Amino acid sequence: MNDAPPGTERHSRGIYSDDNARVPVRIPGIPHTTSIDTMADTPRPDTHVLPPALERLTAAIFERAGWDSRDAALAANHLVLANASGHDSHGVGMTPRYIRAARLGRLKQGRTITTVMDAGAVLTLDGGMGLGQVVGFDAMNIGIARARESGAAILALRNTHHLGRIGHWGEQVAAAGLVAIHFVNVIGRPPLVAPWGGRQARFSTNPICIAFPRRDTNPIVLDFATSRIAHGKTRVAWKRGVPVAEGNLLDREGEPTQDPSVMWVDPFGALLPFGEHKGFGLGMMCELLAGALGGAGTLPGKTDWDVIDNNMLSILLDPSRLGGADSYGAETERLIEWVYATPAAEGFDRVRIPGEPERETREKRGREGIPIDATSWGEIIECAESLGLSRDVAYAMAGLE
Ligand code: NAD
Repeated sequence: MNDAPPGTERHSRGIYSDDNARVPVRIPGIPHTTSIDTMADTPRPDTHVLPPALERLTAAIFERAGWDSRDAALAANHLVLANASGHDSHGVGMTPRYIRAARLGRLKQGRTITTVMDAGAVLTLDGGMGLGQVVGFDAMNIGIARARESGAAILALRNTHHLGRIGHWGEQVAAAGLVAIHFVNVIGRPPLVAPWGGRQARFSTNPICIAFPRRDTNPIVLDFATSRIAHGKTRVAWKRGVPVAEGNLLDREGEPTQDPSVMWVDPFGALLPFGEHKGFGLGMMCELLAGALGGAGTLPGKTDWDVIDNNMLSILLDPSRLGGADSYGAETERLIEWVYATPAAEGFDRVRIPGEPERETREKRGREGIPIDATSWGEIIECAESLGLSRDVAYAMAGLE
């Protein structure tokens, strides 16, 4: 009996390739990782690179691959900001994967957004499998303009290569003074997350983001996957050769494990949803809102697992329209002050609001550099070399000896 979900029969045969696929297609010079041999017995030291230098190097790699300089700059800025914010799972470690996806023609270079449906404040946009960092940026600018006109805008963005850290889009919208709500699904790779009560994956990590602007200061940015940990975090742990914390993973039999390789080496396991039935329910709603509403599609109908195909439903609101600018601003600050006044629990120095840990990490990594695990750094350098950027030049660009 075949107990796999529709379309996942290929999963157990391990023929996925590229990006987040777990058995990459081999392309000369582009690193691929196929075995747990890469798990070191003792973790190797990280390489520390300051954000501006890392951004220069990453953009240079993308340009070497023939990308337009705007595309290269937007992608490099996005990936490095993810690292700087502490989300290494969505940072420069993705660089070789993006290059590989472009070489395989799954990430379409030079694609711009096409408008599928335009009803003023409600739009369906198609990214044509273009670079998510460019398509997402342009889509948010369209949404910002529409929300300023009408007070609100709803965008269904479909068919886009990896949109990366979703908080990036929330921050772009909040910087324009608007509230952003994003629901995301991923249909280009096999399911990763088990539904609550299940032993086998049926969902992607379906992230959700809500960003709330504040007057003259940083926004509140809630941004997380609906799995207990982001899938990319299992890649980082696997490459660092360390186990993940208990309670996050199931092995292929659906039994608890701490071994991150179960998400990357056949036989595959599953991530668990956060918050038990609540995270599962939220993830399912992300799948429906991002995948079923805008015509993008949800996981069961999908049979091509070779690309990170992100879809995102975004709701943008002008906070000054509903209750007035003064009221929302004052109410927001009152609430934050109230939350900050909470006595700290044991093990905490103080209460933080969403978005604060990322800003603290940006300050720290801005001073000390971004730590990149040895495997990811080796892959980035190998990728640069394959594109004709010598190791010495790459190290010099990164500000390293
Ligand atoms: P996470 O578990 O680290 O949670 C991050 C969120 O929790 C942030 O909003 C952060 O400010 C808040 N937070 C953390 N500690 C806090 C504290 N002590 N007090 C208050 N708030 C706190 O995030 P994650 O689930 O690992 O997701 C990581 C990234 O992966 C996100 O940026 C997400 O968008 C991205 N992601 C993208 C995709 C995709 O398909 N593109 C899929 C999954 C995840």
